[in-house]
Amino acid sequence: MSDCIFCKIAAGDIPARRVLETENCVVFHDISPAAPLHLLVIPKQHLASADALREEHQALAGELLLAAAEAARQEGATESGYRLVMNTGHNAGQEVMHIHLHVLGGRSFKWPPG
Ligand code: 5GP
Ligand code: ZN
Repeated sequence: MSDCIFCKIAAGDIPARRVLETENCVVFHDISPAAPLHLLVIPKQHLASADALREEHQALAGELLLAAAEAARQEGATESGYRLVMNTGHNAGQEVMHIHLHVLGGRSFKWPPG
């Protein structure tokens, strides 16, 4: 999608601190980190949110999760633990309408979330 910031990052048209790329996904550092480690995992394909996922996206959804786990390992967050978050829609506070997984680590997190 031409006016989507994460599509532009996936295409390399906007710079980002990339940590990992798979066939269909890209992982990069969040520009405004909410934790010492804050990565975003996105598919190269534009999908607005988890609500856009259908049967045909099963492999892509799996690749997104695997990329998140691999990036967390690569960044040394596995032993201490990390949180995966996918904000979906208004009530969850989704700001960028291109589906993404947050990988948050480097500190402990409260539950339930605010
Ligand atoms: P959401 O609230 O949609 O779940 O999260 C969007 C995230 O994208 C936020 O954490 C925000 O800091 C991050 N973000 C927004 N614009 C950019 C950008 O241009 N580059 C990077 N690296 N992160 C961004
Ligand atoms: Zn997009």
